[in-house]
Amino acid sequence: MSPKSRPDPGPNASGEFTFCPYCAAELEIRPDGEGQSRRVCPQCQWIHYRNPTVGVAAIVLTADGLLLGRRQSGGWCIPCGHVEWHESIHQAVVREMREELGVEIQVGPLYNAHSNFHNPAQHTVGLWFEVALPQSVELIPGGDLVELRVFPLDQIPDLIFPTDGLIVEQLCSDSRQRT
Ligand SMILES: [Zn+2]
Repeated sequence: MSPKSRPDPGPNASGEFTFCPYCAAELEIRPDGEGQSRRVCPQCQWIHYRNPTVGVAAIVLTADGLLLGRRQSGGWCIPCGHVEWHESIHQAVVREMREELGVEIQVGPLYNAHSNFHNPAQHTVGLWFEVALPQSVELIPGGDLVELRVFPLDQIPDLIFPTDGLIVEQLCSDSRQRT
């Protein structure tokens, strides 16, 4: 068998499986009877349901403004990360901030949630939590972040994730209502 006789078994351009991850048969696209089409394995009948994954982000507001992180890949965002399989959303925020800020944070209330569609290969649901830092602590960027800086809410730089912009708008609106 020549190596060209099988198509590339990796995910396609939109991040979908094209081969069954259990038995390696090529998936077929079939209507599911509810207006969606899904990739289904003709051999073991596995159905490729595509669901968004969950991300968590930490809103750290100080007297000087909002804490943002600059990512290795470039661009600013509200510090964030993915929830691992074994952890709760609250454990995920604590772990991500240990990695990205170098501190043990206190998770406060959920501030808002949004669907993220900016990466067509991986949709996510983002949960932004209000977070409190320990008193007079030095933050050390880590994980995906190479720099941490607090920006006044009216001087936020361009953000790489569109939904972070919605959170900033909401924070601005909340701070105007308080004054
Ligand atoms: Zn299969």
